[in-house]
Amino acid sequence: MKTDGGDGAGRDAPSMVKVEIYGERCKSCGLCIIACPQDCLERANEINSQGFFPVCLVNEEKCRGCALCALVCPDVCFEIYK
Ligand code: SF4
Ligand code: SF4
Repeated sequence: MKTDGGDGAGRDAPSMVKVEIYGERCKSCGLCIIACPQDCLERANEINSQGFFPVCLVNEEKCRGCALCALVCPDVCFEIYK
């Protein structure tokens, strides 16, 4: 069964993806955490200047660059480079 999410990238392909997160914009709504199919995102332990716990990238090696996080974020916190 194909498990690559339909983007053509193999599950075991080396990651050529860079995810930039602008944590100062983040309002900690959690939409990106729910949307990420790879469990790459979590809230940080420290607040940003707005008083929210910003999302940060964990499990970076699992990121497939699908950009679902960027798609759902209402505060334009993500830039995805492939
Ligand atoms: S690009 Fe896709 S896999 Fe990577 S952090 Fe965003 S939602 Fe998760
Ligand atoms: S969707 Fe955007 S604003 Fe919401 S938690 Fe994720 S990065 Fe923060």
